Amino acid sequence: MPNLDPERYLRLTLTRREHFTDDVGVLHVEASEPISFTPGQYATLGLVVDDQPRPLLRPYSVIGTPGDTHLEFYLERVDDGQLTPHLWRLQPGATLWMRRKIVGRFVLDTEVHHHVMAATVTGVGPYLSILRTWLDTPASKRRNDRFLLIHGGSYASELGRYRHEMEDYAAQHDAITYIPTVSRPREALDWTGERGRVEDVLRKHWDAAGFPLHDTALYTCGHPQMIDKAQGIGARAGLSADRIHEEKYFVERH
Ligand SMILES: Cc1cc2nc3c(=O)[nH]c(=O)nc-3n(C[C@H](O)[C@H](O)[C@H](O)COP(=O)(O)OP(=O)(O)OC[C@H]3O[C@@H](n4cnc5c(N)ncnc54)[C@H](O)[C@@H]3O)c2cc1C
Repeated sequence: MPNLDPERYLRLTLTRREHFTDDVGVLHVEASEPISFTPGQYATLGLVVDDQPRPLLRPYSVIGTPGDTHLEFYLERVDDGQLTPHLWRLQPGATLWMRRKIVGRFVLDTEVHHHVMAATVTGVGPYLSILRTWLDTPASKRRNDRFLLIHGGSYASELGRYRHEMEDYAAQHDAITYIPTVSRPREALDWTGERGRVEDVLRKHWDAAGFPLHDTALYTCGHPQMIDKAQGIGARAGLSADRIHEEKYFVERH
């Protein structure tokens, strides 16, 4: 076990892993102390691989509520990736490390009250933290926000349990609209939801929501191609650059 500086790194214990598909799943971890962060931010997770003296580190959006010791990480395995194949082999009880400083500017834009959120698969993580925290706030103290969340994947199975969680929130709260969309619906014959990529259905649902432009922000998280296209839609709709937010998970290989 490496000698990591406890001032910088916190030890996490893997308590449970969930698989939505072979390549998409969730790591549930428990920290020894409450974690403070702003919903939407990301953590730097580390795993010690092959007895190396330093953990292999990658950024991951934090799913949870500030002050809790339980966190979730919604992950996609990259076949030839350095870290994710190792994460896939971890068993409950395994140790992970996390930089104590949870960072990032992909948080709720408090300048506005209407939030259009676009995510590919695991990119829904920041929105889960934002919405869980918003819902945890007593109604009398809650900001008067409205949310439209478009969540896409190739297959419905990739959206996993989080689709049901968001559907429940939307069913219980008029302030939340959740639109899951699947780009390969032929492989799930019972799929009755939207068909197409996030960027294909974004404009239609944004228009239907009737959000006033001067009080709206657009958030884009996950796959870089979706982010670029959704941001083009936002700019053409007339949103200023400072109301368009992004969390790009990777740079595409050419
Ligand atoms: C701020 C931030 C937050 C992130 N949050 C999440 C998250 O919540 N969940 C999550 O699954 N990932 C997230 N990522 C991506 C994550 O940090 C890693 O890049 C990813 O898990 C791959 O790591 P790896 O070591 O297995 O692959 P690497 O060895 O780092 O990457 C190998 C190659 O795969 C490409 N790549 C990385 N991710 C993907 C992907 N999903 N699909 C296709 N190609 C990819 C990289 O560009 C690189 O060229 C986030 C990234 C950033 C910058």
